Amino acid sequence: MSRVYNFSAGPACLPEEVLRKCAEEMLEYGNSGMSVMEMSHRSKDFEAILDTAEADLRELVGIPENYKVLFLQGGGNTQFAMVPMNLMKNRVADYIITGQWAKKAAAEAEIYGKVNRIASSADKTFSYIPDCSDLPVSPDADYVYICQNNTIYGTAFKTLPNTKGKDLVSDVSSMLLSEPMDVTKYGVVWGGVQKNVGPAGVTIVIIRDDLIREDVLPGTPTMLKYKTHADNKSLYNTPPCWNIYVCGLVFKWLKEKGGLAAMKAVNEQKAKILYDYLDQSAMFKGTVNPADRSLMNVPFVTGNEDLDKKFIAEATKAGFKNLKGHRTVGGMRASIYNAMPIEGVQALVDFMTAFEKENG
Ligand SMILES: *Cc1c(COP(=O)(O)O)cnc(C)c1O
Repeated sequence: MSRVYNFSAGPACLPEEVLRKCAEEMLEYGNSGMSVMEMSHRSKDFEAILDTAEADLRELVGIPENYKVLFLQGGGNTQFAMVPMNLMKNRVADYIITGQWAKKAAAEAEIYGKVNRIASSADKTFSYIPDCSDLPVSPDADYVYICQNNTIYGTAFKTLPNTKGKDLVSDVSSMLLSEPMDVTKYGVVWGGVQKNVGPAGVTIVIIRDDLIREDVLPGTPTMLKYKTHADNKSLYNTPPCWNIYVCGLVFKWLKEKGGLAAMKAVNEQKAKILYDYLDQSAMFKGTVNPADRSLMNVPFVTGNEDLDKKFIAEATKAGFKNLKGHRTVGGMRASIYNAMPIEGVQALVDFMTAFEKENG
């Protein structure tokens, strides 16, 4: 067996300790005589797995009592519809467009109501976060929506927008649990787990009690009401049991590592190694406004497509996988989520240094 350094944006690397634990428990979980994959979702064993996962997540993040935690399916793209279907009482919402995922969310919301795009960084290919301190928030907006870490473009909000009293809805898919977050700043904060938390198939939604309503938009399917899942503790129907179990193991791993403040410190160290190198390199350049740089997704280019290709090919051969940039951006992107060890980032920078010497 030889494991590589996997810089994929998602599904992405998971902590090796967690994968080993999964392997250990694959054939028999506890004394159950079966795998978690084979268990009834109504069994005592699975109930304990789900309850423990939620309790650990609440402890890690510090989720207040008046927020519900939901483990849902359908990925991020389903949240693009669930958010307006459940929250668009007035059928108006404000969206801040900082990349493809916010753009897609806004387009989906437009099926249900009026979408005001109150800020955008499209003018400079989403390479920065617009000033959101005094935006023309719509008086009748049901919520203000952001994508907090832009997986594709590598930018992140360092301060949350001034929503002028409106509820903030935030997609944190590619930064969930990478640093502490103050849940009280949000009405809804959600993330697909396949970027930074677990195996694809679970979306974690953290939602304030009063936003869980019966009076959702007419025609909203039962499965797409937050209330359905909140009332049934994420067990309305069969949840992705095994995936939730793996997320639970990751929560335990994060607790062992010292929690989210400790993760943030390591993530800052990792990002600094890479950005510091990019800032002094004559060959490789970061593509975003330094003040808005993501700690999780680091896009970079050489400015020469052939050289990009050569770099990706040689890096792949050397065991640095999935460094190709998103198809809409080109160049390279290194995603350095929680599970990427600092040694992996250092090894990548060493490899880039050698490549630059040879090809400069
Ligand atoms: C990957 C991603 C999504 C889309 O998630 P799916 O689960 O593939 O629907 C949405 N938002 C962000 C920020 C992402 O990184």
